[in-house]
Amino acid sequence: MATNEYEVDELKMMEELTINAHQVQEEVLGEILKRNAETEYLKGFLNGQSGKQLFKNNVPIVTYEDIKPYVDRIANGEPSDILLAEPVIEFNRSSGTSGGQPKLIPNTVELSKKRAAFHTLIASVLNKHFGDLNRTGKSMELMFVKPETETPSGLKAGSVTTSRFKDNGFRNILPMRYTSPIETILCLDINQSMYCQLLVSFIQRDEVVRIGSMFASALLRAIKFIEDHWKELCSNIKTGYLSDWITDSGCRNALSLIMKHDPALADSIENICGCRSWEGIIRKLWPKAKYIGAITTGVMRQYTTALDFYSGGLPLVSSFYACSEAICGINLEPLDKPADVSYTILPNMAYFEFLPVKKDRVSMTQEVQFNGVSEQESIEMKSNNEDIEAVELVNVKLGQFYELVVTTFTGLYRYRVGDILMVTGFHNNTPQFRFVERENVILSVDADKTSEADLLKAVTEAKTLLDPLGFILTAYTSYGDMSSTPGHYVLFWELKVKEDNDNKEFDPKMMVECCSRMEESLTYTYKIYRQQNAIAPLEIRVVKQGTFDALMDYYVSQGASMNQYKAPSCIKSKEALKILDSRVIGKFFSLKAPL
Ligand code: AMP
Repeated sequence: MATNEYEVDELKMMEELTINAHQVQEEVLGEILKRNAETEYLKGFLNGQSGKQLFKNNVPIVTYEDIKPYVDRIANGEPSDILLAEPVIEFNRSSGTSGGQPKLIPNTVELSKKRAAFHTLIASVLNKHFGDLNRTGKSMELMFVKPETETPSGLKAGSVTTSRFKDNGFRNILPMRYTSPIETILCLDINQSMYCQLLVSFIQRDEVVRIGSMFASALLRAIKFIEDHWKELCSNIKTGYLSDWITDSGCRNALSLIMKHDPALADSIENICGCRSWEGIIRKLWPKAKYIGAITTGVMRQYTTALDFYSGGLPLVSSFYACSEAICGINLEPLDKPADVSYTILPNMAYFEFLPVKKDRVSMTQEVQFNGVSEQESIEMKSNNEDIEAVELVNVKLGQFYELVVTTFTGLYRYRVGDILMVTGFHNNTPQFRFVERENVILSVDADKTSEADLLKAVTEAKTLLDPLGFILTAYTSYGDMSSTPGHYVLFWELKVKEDNDNKEFDPKMMVECCSRMEESLTYTYKIYRQQNAIAPLEIRVVKQGTFDALMDYYVSQGASMNQYKAPSCIKSKEALKILDSRVIGKFFSLKAPL
């Protein structure tokens, strides 16, 4: 049901790209090398040449740490062409971190245009399934920006979405297509922004044909926010006056143009929100909505049960797979359930290679968490994939796991993105992938990504507070608690008194301080999300002596080898969690968001 010629062309182009994937990839690599052969980075490996085989033989597969010195030099004022031919217009801050700092990924005019074109392609695919919703109504999409920073050379560094929302092209279409005025999106106070975006979506509820957010977590947060604020929202609609605590002048100005006194609308919303059960609340609040658009794969899978409950049967559509580094894939079957979603790689967006990953290296996090499969496989993961050759896009094998490696026009050459994908099928000659997991991330409750090393660093910092008090931290593990919204990190700590005959009680104040110290030592992204209340305060649950022995007994009873057993840094199994929770002797929460 593609609705106009332009969309038909877009879909046709997608067909051609996926039929000619091999040729398109060759051309993309050829063009990247031709343009960038003279950069200092590539010259070091290719001597100014641009042959594909030379590229494969000489250019190493790298991580962010390898290109960071070049990024830092550009950020400090050296010309961009040490790394890429095209001028860098800004940096995109990726939520993946490098030594606790966000990664800075170069952005160019061309990449920004490609991103805009990608959104048009996504819209064409969605229109094919749902009709052109822009003609019949608006999207209630929750959009938030993050503060931008500036590098010493004066380049902005912000998230990809922040730069999209600030783009003029986006701002021009916003009033026709979305319920949120730009001022409410650009408001840096997340609560004021959320309140105003929900308020305008209520006022325009009869026009809303689509509900969305980038990631599913933000939508659930919005539902929780409505739970806490619906009476106030309704009172604002009833009286036509905006609450005084909305002090952001942009929000107040924008709302003043939209708000009117509407007691009938307020009554309808009050009746809906006043119901005992909130099952299907999304459909009740926005009755003309056709679907919910949000990424629900990867770590976001954990939110789908709750969203299904609130959605009232609206399809959950996870449209694309992309990162700050590259635009990767699109979901050509928007009606597929989150568990079945695969993304078709777009062969013209970058040069894609795939590092085979042994299945036993994949932690199977999602299966463990969501399908109740035994945790055995995650305990057994051992082998590594060094010295394994990267495979080209068209040569990947069905059912195989791979780590994604990209070469882009923007200065990333054979760069490991850090995502593990599994081949699920082919669209024409182009493989489709299921997102399996983020490499090396153990804790994540929103777009935060905390690795084992990040966690260890934070625990190490916090436990220094215990030493002077005569306590030793003997074991710890963690858990992403999603039972309430927003989710939060839980740390299980087993403590021992240094002197055996000492009957010391641990000081609650000190434990609260440990929670705060941990938060201060976690990654930049964690802290930003915590400050914005997208992550709730970190909790330490102190367990009684012997708990971690009981945990080990459990894993051994499940088949883990006693010799190789390591307490998992993060708990996924419900059984293991029960063992820990049944031995908790104290719970402590951080009292302040980290700076
Ligand atoms: P950022 O660079 O901060 O935008 O984060 C990009 C990362 O988010 C990717 O590398 C993935 O780990 C994750 N991500 C993006 N899209 C998806 C998706 N559709 N499903 C699962 N994870 C995703």
